[in-house]
Amino acid sequence: MAPTSLHIASELYPLIKTGGLADVLGALPAALAKLGAPTRVLVPGYPTVMAAAGSMTSIANWPNLFGGGQARVLSGRLDGVDVPAYVLDVPGFFNRAGNPYLDADGRDWQDNARRFAAFSWTGAELACGLDPDWRPDIVHGHDWQAGLTPAYIAHSAEPRPKTAITIHNLAYQGLFPSSAYAWLGLPASSFTSDGLEFYGQVSFLKAGLVNADRITTVSRTYAHEIQAVEQGCGFDGLLRGRADVLTGIVNGADYDVWNPATDTLLPKPFEPGQMAGKAEAKRALREQFGLGASDKGPLFGVVSRLTWHKGLDLLLGSLPTMVQRGGQLALLGTGEPGLEEGFRNASVEHSGQVGAVIGYDEALAHLIIAGCDVVLVPSRSEPCGLTQIYAMKYGSPPLVRNTGGLADTVVNAEPKAIAAKKATGFTFNLATVDALSGTIGWVCDLWQDRTAWKGIQANGMAADFGWDRAAAEYLDLYLRMIG
Ligand code: ADP
Repeated sequence: MAPTSLHIASELYPLIKTGGLADVLGALPAALAKLGAPTRVLVPGYPTVMAAAGSMTSIANWPNLFGGGQARVLSGRLDGVDVPAYVLDVPGFFNRAGNPYLDADGRDWQDNARRFAAFSWTGAELACGLDPDWRPDIVHGHDWQAGLTPAYIAHSAEPRPKTAITIHNLAYQGLFPSSAYAWLGLPASSFTSDGLEFYGQVSFLKAGLVNADRITTVSRTYAHEIQAVEQGCGFDGLLRGRADVLTGIVNGADYDVWNPATDTLLPKPFEPGQMAGKAEAKRALREQFGLGASDKGPLFGVVSRLTWHKGLDLLLGSLPTMVQRGGQLALLGTGEPGLEEGFRNASVEHSGQVGAVIGYDEALAHLIIAGCDVVLVPSRSEPCGLTQIYAMKYGSPPLVRNTGGLADTVVNAEPKAIAAKKATGFTFNLATVDALSGTIGWVCDLWQDRTAWKGIQANGMAADFGWDRAAAEYLDLYLRMIG
């Protein structure tokens, strides 16, 4: 029998998404189920989740869970989600509009520790028999929001399932004041530097990294990078110590959602050999961003959270080169105020050549990926990255920094790779404005070589990053875990 697994995550496409985590949860469980491994998910009852939970039934309730008031666990089907689900419905914690982690002023919700302790704890309860009708062999937590689950399970009575935690981004560590320890319900002995304590605070992610039977992350290169100081975010020592249980599995792309041949969010679909729809998407994109029709250089696109680790300050510094070379930019993103302002200003300064929409817009994201010539992902660190994978499928070869999952998925267009029909994009090494500007200049040159360019596009469109391979790797891991 294939192992059963429960996935615990705070995001789930299409119901709640701030980044790639949602995309992974929207696809991996269904891909595992397709391989014959029964899989369920647990998500918090955010408003959009509750709106899809109409047919679910309550299997447990508590009058006051971790100070959040009335709580219940719903079981059944969520509209738009392919696998069975559990929802932790705590209106006092999760019935809030907007971003799941931040208030309207962009600050962390002050009760995030309690919200996600309650969530992780519920995952552990489900792991240990809360649902009399279903019990997983493997409990698989994702990121810091589910980090405490392996700790609660480790301190539960037998029989206990095996546990895995996936790091989607090590930079988010779920750090809270040590006072949380008083109410977390874990033994005081675990609040030590080889337990949950992280420089005087509690780290929910560390709880997962210390207690889970297996740790995975979302690319092979990132699995190595996080074991070194530069990208270890203070956890490199811990991760080196657990290297024997740490695996990198590159994410897949959900081609049911991200496929230019079937994408209903585009003016017209397209595919290799029938690329008229791409030209139409480019026209629509230029119109939306107020960009001129000049084809002197490529149209670069960005769809990203605007954060320092995404390297978008490097892009701001490289705009003079891009503009001078006749390139254009269409950027969609939201995040750090300084970067938002930087791109707003740039779109005024270089109006007609640089356009920026500050916000979150799924349909516009598809139009950018489809309509631009090059998707830019200049990240300082990138656990996996999905936009570069989508970009290849849409014939928009990505320009990426050679790090993490970007390094694992994009083949640089060196002459040898072009000749071997393997090139799928463009990479640069140093996280500097000079390096990015130089690469943008090189890409503008290559853009003039229409034969080479079409070859790079075709290679990317033919590459297969579907979930079948990634799901098979997870299943293999689960089989080894239950051994
Ligand atoms: P991360 O998880 O670090 O944000 P990924 O590349 O793994 O980066 O995933 C980002 C996902 O979020 C992609 O599906 C991308 O299209 C989407 N996304 C990011 N920013 C926006 C935005 N402003 N509007 C719409 N979609 C966005």
